[in-house]
This record gives sequence, C-alpha cells and structure tokens, in this order.
Amino acid sequence: KLHNTILDLKGNVRVFCRVRPLFPKDNGSGGKIFSYHTSMDTRGQGIYLLQNGQKHSFLFDKVFTPEPSQEDVFLEMSQLVQSAIDVCVFAYGQTCSGKTYTMLGRPGYADEKGLIPHSLEQIFQTTQSLKSQKWNYEMQVSMLENYNETIHDLLPSQSSTDSSWTENSTAKQYVIKHDASGNPSVSDLTVVDVCNTKEASYFLKHAARSRSIGKTQMNEESSRSHFIFTLQISGVNMVLEFQVQGVLNLIDLAGSERLLKSGSTGDRLKETQSLSSLSDVFFALAKKEDHVPFRNSKLTYLLQPCLGENAKTLMFVNISPDSSSVWGVAMLT
Ligand code: ADP
Ligand code: MG
Repeated sequence: KLHNTILDLKGNVRVFCRVRPLFPKDNGSGGKIFSYHTSMDTRGQGIYLLQNGQKHSFLFDKVFTPEPSQEDVFLEMSQLVQSAIDVCVFAYGQTCSGKTYTMLGRPGYADEKGLIPHSLEQIFQTTQSLKSQKWNYEMQVSMLENYNETIHDLLPSQSSTDSSWTENSTAKQYVIKHDASGNPSVSDLTVVDVCNTKEASYFLKHAARSRSIGKTQMNEESSRSHFIFTLQISGVNMVLEFQVQGVLNLIDLAGSERLLKSGSTGDRLKETQSLSSLSDVFFALAKKEDHVPFRNSKLTYLLQPCLGENAKTLMFVNISPDSSSVWGVAMLT
C-alpha cells in the first residue's frame, strides 16, 4: 500500500528507488531471483523486476542501480539539503536492503559516506562560506529511536540516570508535547549545539553506538526500530536583518517486512504502528484529504510539520536483488 501510494504523489514528495548490489552470501539457494531493467518515461523512471517469468513494473522519480556511488546518490538530494525549509528524507525497505547504508554509509569507509554525513558536510561548508556575507548560523542535532512506539534518546544526557537503554525497567518515558512555537517535540530529548562537521560526526557515532548497544541488551535487531536524525538550522543576517530557519530530518525506517508479519493487536500492532501510519499519512496527503491522520503514531506525529504542504519529502525505496527478497518483492506489487 505504501508503495502504490507514494508513487502517485506529486509535488512535494519524491520517491527514489535504490537497488543494492548482489553479494555472494545472498544467493545460497542459487542465483538472484530477479533481473531488472530500467527505462525512462515522461513521468519518471521505471523499473521492471523479472521474477519467475513474471514482470512487475514500478514507476519512480528516479532509479539508482547498484553502480552509482554514495556521492552520486547524495548529489540527487543535495539541493534539498541546501534549501532552508523543512525536509524529511526516509529510507524504506526490508531488512538488509541498504537503508542504513544509504543513510549512514559503511562505517570506517570515508568514501562510502551516507546521506547523513554528506548532508552535514555540505551544510557546514555552505554556512561557513556565508559568513563573509554576514550570515551567522546555529545548528542543533538530536537523535532518537522509536521502538514499539517508545522513544529512546540516543545522545548522552547530562544526568547518567537518563540513559534510557541501560535499564529497561527504569527507562525514561519520552512524551511528545508541543513546544513554544506549537510544533510537536519530544520533551527532555537531548539537543546539542554543533559548530562543525567534526562535532556533529562525533554525536552521530555516539548515537549509532547507543543504538546497537541498546539492541544487544534488549536482544533485538535494529530492523525493528526507526532512527530519526534531526538537524535544526537557524541563520541570521545582521546586515539584512533577515532570519531563516529549517529542520532536516533523516530517517532510517524499521524493516518493511514487519508490515507483512504484523497482527492487529497488542505488541504486534505497536510494532508496525509507525510504518503503517506513515503509509496512511502519505495516502491522505496524496488524495489531499482534509484530515491527515498524523496523530496515529509517534513517527508521524513528530514529523508532522515536516510532512505537510510547506515541507519537502524524499523517500528512498531500497531493494535487494537476492533470493531472500522474494516476498519483499511481492509486497511491492
Ligand atoms: P538495512 O539497513 O536495510 O537492513 P544495510 O544498509 O545494513 O541494510 O545493508 C546490508 C548490507 O549491504 C550492509 O553490509 C551494507 O554495507 C551493504 N550494502 C547495502 N547497500 C549497498 C550498496 N548500494 N553498495 C554496497 N554495499 C551495500
Ligand atoms: Mg539497517
């Protein structure tokens, strides 16, 4: 449902498909299950997946085959990052399809940086160069994880007792409230000022570590949680007496296979609540419905100001070409 809906969206939402390479360990049971070819269309770029003689076709704004580098992928979104408006970029797909690779990159490989480190670099470079034109920028980052509709702060907080992952029983309950400007925000979430790429990268690494430590302790995989990276930017020009503000949200979603496996009650419902609500929100936005059900999940509630008409949204649909993707591909249809 998510796919069919987001593909129809015009205007503020763009949807890109990214196919990851086939790895030797992927095809234990004999070869890749689908081949694909892409085509240009006046409406966008099509991808045709051929599986067991069956052809499934999809239309995206753009399709990235495995060849384009992380740099090439970033270039496609760099203009979004540059615009001082509210932006949401999602990575959607089943586990092992390349969502985290797209967002963060490969740890330790500087030339395989993902969209988050790339965006940070570009933003700090730009704001630095604007100093000569009397622009003064302030940046703040926060990072959280939404796991079963429970929010976890991924940044170090002032008091050590706040560390939400260390003891689940004493985990702090983070609630979404409206801040002074009327926007939903997570109360008590750690927000840090960052002045350069190095500082921001330090916190990003910290958050990535907190996420994996938390998972080990909980004996869970990161495929079940949504990771939200938020950068708040505000700039002032003293000479022009002009002010700009923007929020950049980069989101590594939980594995989409959860949507298929879910039941309709209790924890199973909670597990897919944010993902299915996101789909409902896109659906309502696409149809320009009067009521958009933002409040049905923490993810959509929190991102509401960045999903509306005045914001820009980009969705990466990550897919993998290996045989374990059979039902993931089926879900696309
Ligand atoms: P997900 O976050 O969707 O579960 P990952 O991003 O962890 O998937 O990707 C699974 C594996 O595939 C990782 O080892 C990752 O480095 C690798 N990978 C994913 N996409 C690409 C790509 N486009 N090029 C090279 N390696 C990739
Ligand atoms: Mg991942």
